Amino acid sequence: MTSSGADGPPVAPRLAGGLLTIDLNALAGNWAKLAEIAAPAECAAVVKGDGYGIGLEQATEALGRAGCSTFFVALPEEGFRARRVLPEATVYVLDGLLPGCAGDYAAAGLRPVLGSRPEIEEWSAFCGKRAERLPAAIHVDTGINRLGLEEAEFDALTARPGAFDDFHPALLMSHLACADTPDHPLNAEQLARFKAVRAKLPDVPASLANSAATLALPDSRLDLVRPGVALYGGAALTDRPNPMRAVVQMGARIVQMRSARAGETVGYGAVETLKRDSRLAIVAVGYADGFHRAAGSSDDRPGGRGVIDGHSLPIVGRISMDLIALDATDLPDGVATRGGLVELIGHTISVDEVAANAGTIGYEILTGLGRRFHREYRQAVASY
Ligand SMILES: *Cc1c(COP(=O)(O)O)cnc(C)c1O
Repeated sequence: MTSSGADGPPVAPRLAGGLLTIDLNALAGNWAKLAEIAAPAECAAVVKGDGYGIGLEQATEALGRAGCSTFFVALPEEGFRARRVLPEATVYVLDGLLPGCAGDYAAAGLRPVLGSRPEIEEWSAFCGKRAERLPAAIHVDTGINRLGLEEAEFDALTARPGAFDDFHPALLMSHLACADTPDHPLNAEQLARFKAVRAKLPDVPASLANSAATLALPDSRLDLVRPGVALYGGAALTDRPNPMRAVVQMGARIVQMRSARAGETVGYGAVETLKRDSRLAIVAVGYADGFHRAAGSSDDRPGGRGVIDGHSLPIVGRISMDLIALDATDLPDGVATRGGLVELIGHTISVDEVAANAGTIGYEILTGLGRRFHREYRQAVASY
């Protein structure tokens, strides 16, 4: 199936500077693998950030088909989109209840993740008025200091009889700060704190684990796990091989092959000088497409690479808005030609390699994937 990004008109493949191939079978397979690892805990899916860049609707549909029935988004708008795809799914809004919006959440059947006293009061008042105990999650902070009730606030609430009478606490959750570093002492500390929190509402299902914790911290799996990045093929843990399948493949179109002489420079700022006579493949992907400028190369520092037919093509010089120069000198004749495609992300070059070359993390590469690509979704899905 073929589609544009979430917005903007579709780009015909022959007219596109870059092609994104999104393997929804790999996404579904990654979910099934995490579900097996997490069992008997339920495996939910986080589809915030436009489904980590691959398309919220397509991701939600494929995950629903794989058997996932609980979804997490960051914002209500994302919740509306997930709800349109899966009318029956459970959808939690991680950023909580935005003020004055309880009616919007209720109308769409979204569950706010309540992380402060004002949110709990507002949701309680709304439910009280409707005389309907609508479900919501309660988020308790155990050490990340981002969202969630302070433990003391939570203790005070649970000590008050009837504090949760007006709504239905359907999930009790917290979030780990250092799950990607399994040996970090804060993990054990947060888990111990969360267990104490849980003891105060023992009948409510509990959730703590993101991707990294699902994979590496078995004690954190509890009743429900909330993986995000691992579903999309990203490495949740950097100290070991990534067991997940790649979901995203990025191909960049060669728009020109050119020769340049030893001693000449390539690209803006003339920061890289050629050490030999070279063949350059100029491809039509740049930082406007989410391929970070920080992965460029200079005389002082190597950059990222592309791959064609198993051959590596190092990036030469700065990455510009719309173009990257790649060194094709060592390629046999006829391998890199005008109109051909160079892999920038895929089975040979992981999202995490691209991220490392740009000094960032795979999450940022995925969620920053640009809007100009021709997007092709493998596995038939409905079109949006
Ligand atoms: C984003 C997020 C997740 C998913 O995290 P990954 O590291 O992508 O698996 C889980 N829980 C919360 C609260 C989040 O914000």
